[in-house]
Amino acid sequence: MRPALDSYTHIASGKVREIYQIDDDTLLMVASDRISAYDHILTPTIPDKGRILTAMSFYWFDALGVPNHLAGGPTDERIPEGAVGRSMVVRKLPMVPVECVARGYLTGSGLIDYRATGSVCGVELPEGLDEAHRLPEPIFTPATKAEQGDHDENISFEAVAATVGDDLATALRTATLDIYSRGAAIAADRGIILADTKFEFGRDADGSLVLADEVLTPDSSRYWEAAGYTPGQVQPSFDKQIVRNWLTSPESGWDRASDTTPPALPDDVVARTRARYIEAYEWISQKSFDDWPQG
Ligand code: ATP
Ligand code: MG
Repeated sequence: MRPALDSYTHIASGKVREIYQIDDDTLLMVASDRISAYDHILTPTIPDKGRILTAMSFYWFDALGVPNHLAGGPTDERIPEGAVGRSMVVRKLPMVPVECVARGYLTGSGLIDYRATGSVCGVELPEGLDEAHRLPEPIFTPATKAEQGDHDENISFEAVAATVGDDLATALRTATLDIYSRGAAIAADRGIILADTKFEFGRDADGSLVLADEVLTPDSSRYWEAAGYTPGQVQPSFDKQIVRNWLTSPESGWDRASDTTPPALPDDVVARTRARYIEAYEWISQKSFDDWPQG
């Protein structure tokens, strides 16, 4: 018999995930089907999104081959009834308070900073780069972890070093760029550009870094389809473009600049978005989502 979810203490709620404590050393991270766009959590949910992103994290933790926080498999007996397939049982670790971002391409806040200063997080870049341009080499662009509702703030390597020390800052940069390169190479083999991503690290008893949180999911990364890659303009998002296009179309009647809540997504937008997430998982993992556990 699997335990009931409410037999665990709920300790935190993210935009997309719920965290429970299993025991002093172990957490349960349950991914919901919530989806956000333009900083709003949308309605309705996307059926199976939580399972799909959990399947992706498990795939990547395995494929990346670096120490990670998983303490059990996708059907671990500590996972409650009803949460199998969208849960990870993980080691509860002291977390390094830095969002470890790697960028291989210039977009989003990286592009904004570059346009203002010619650099991102203190990393000087060549002149003449533009939206979605590939960087000469991937860069480490750390950010502070913002309080809920706020945006993460890009910070320099020196600022990270001032917070956690030179040695740990250097280790974070090395690990972030190494893991990004491994992931980007695998994605590239599948025709997907991993434009950028965010990792979080915990620390083992001996101080070494352990890859934690979710990893290389479309919620923590920008996935672009290589076949349509067109530098110089904003790239369609592999997973969220269907939702974004609808929200910004006259059909939705929503004004992005307003402070209003976006309208509910129509059924066909939900269905197409669900299919897109499944496609992303199957492309990357080369496995069928039908085989992913549920229960
Ligand atoms: P957001 O919705 O913006 O991501 P959030 O980061 O607060 O908000 P989640 O991502 O759902 O919400 O929460 C995951 C939390 O668990 C983060 O604070 C993360 O640092 C933490 N975390 C991830 N892995 C571990 C771990 N192995 N041990 C302890 N804490 C962890
Ligand atoms: Mg988070």
